[in-house]
Amino acid sequence: MDIKPRVCVLGGGFAGIQATRSILRRLPHADVTLIDRNPYATMIPALPDALSGRIARGAMKRPFNGLFAADRVRLVTDSIARVDLPARTLQGRTATYPYDALVIAVGSVPEYYGFSPANGTLCTAHSFLAVEALRTAVAQRHTTDPDAPVMIVGGGYTGIEVAACLRHGVQATGRSGSNGPPITIVEAGDGLLPFLTNRERERVSAYLHELGVNVRTSTTLTAFRDGVVTLSDGVTIPDALVCWSAGMRAAVPDLAPQPEQTRDGRLEVNEFLQLPGFPEVFVSGDAAALKKNGAVVRRAVNFAFYSGRRAGRNLASFLRNRPMRAFSPVDLGWVIPMGGISVGRLFGALRVGGRFGLRLHYAMCGFRHFPGASTGEFYRTAFRLKRVPDPLRSTPSGDRR
Ligand SMILES: Cc1cc2nc3c(=O)[nH]c(=O)nc-3n(C[C@H](O)[C@H](O)[C@H](O)COP(=O)(O)OP(=O)(O)OC[C@H]3O[C@@H](n4cnc5c(N)ncnc54)[C@H](O)[C@@H]3O)c2cc1C
Repeated sequence: MDIKPRVCVLGGGFAGIQATRSILRRLPHADVTLIDRNPYATMIPALPDALSGRIARGAMKRPFNGLFAADRVRLVTDSIARVDLPARTLQGRTATYPYDALVIAVGSVPEYYGFSPANGTLCTAHSFLAVEALRTAVAQRHTTDPDAPVMIVGGGYTGIEVAACLRHGVQATGRSGSNGPPITIVEAGDGLLPFLTNRERERVSAYLHELGVNVRTSTTLTAFRDGVVTLSDGVTIPDALVCWSAGMRAAVPDLAPQPEQTRDGRLEVNEFLQLPGFPEVFVSGDAAALKKNGAVVRRAVNFAFYSGRRAGRNLASFLRNRPMRAFSPVDLGWVIPMGGISVGRLFGALRVGGRFGLRLHYAMCGFRHFPGASTGEFYRTAFRLKRVPDPLRSTPSGDRR
């Protein structure tokens, strides 16, 4: 009897798409279902550019429909709330999905550390819809009150990118000759981006300063009530729009029984990316505690992409009773784009920056993008990189994008 294994991939980001592709190639007869809460995949690293306007917003997402041969994958738009591991079922909003083998690739969501606003809205930049909401909120406030402040909580790469892109976005529109709303980054640590060299950190700080972004280190947000922000040093800022970029955690749904997880919610996996005790369940991307030399690696597209591919291949080998291969993360590097400048490191050592780093970032977005017209948008941006004013290099009336 020819029984088709039911394979589910939960999450259609970088990891989930690669897992799905590998499974389709290796298990041509499997019954494959890809479940995501959205009907599209998102180019998350480009999301801050929805604020600068450098990348067309439509290029940030790619419908799943058309990514795979239509008859090969069942595409389901649903939000999975619970995974019953012994029963091998996923519980969605309206349906239950049984599986024989599963890849969990749900990525990350913001971590609020128990903080919640009282009568105020916390914006974020972690998803397409979240950035759209942030962009709309900033634009609306800018129209009615150009001086209404924006408070960015968290001076990591997301907070810095959002601050720079917001400023460049407002400058690009040249609205009412204004430099845009006052922007403050609040950072709990005693400096921005502790993994940078002093020189790089000074460059980033100087750039933000020249953009008019105020940075308050060793400071936390203690309350956000009725639109009024209160900081740990006692300062209050009325009528603020708050963008939260202070932390992320794995978006793992409720799993029963609860497996071992890191403090930020990532699922512990063995070297084959299997969930201990449930060999038919593979985990990849931000959702997995991927380790190099015993330490969990940072959240990055590169790790998601290759772990997704390995999870898919191992799942296929597992179902065919073939040997699986261990996953070992390789760090290709990172770039933090800030509109006009960038800092980055390739292969752990080689420093990149400036416009070259920006080109590399957009080229990588194109390379990692899910095929479609928007891939070209990223390559075009990389190769014809239009200038945004670098206040450290140009006069205040310098060139605009
Ligand atoms: C603003 C920002 C900028 C970044 N910039 C960079 C960068 O420049 N370079 C870099 O390498 N990394 C960057 N990262 C990190 C990078 O985006 C992540 O590491 C990467 O997206 C992880 O891929 P993933 O496939 O694990 O998860 P994701 O890409 O997040 O995909 C997860 C998918 O799962 C779906 N999902 C989640 N929960 C459920 C559920 N319960 N039910 C159904 N579907 C669900 C989501 O809708 C989503 O489509 C950035 C992250 C952010 C937030």
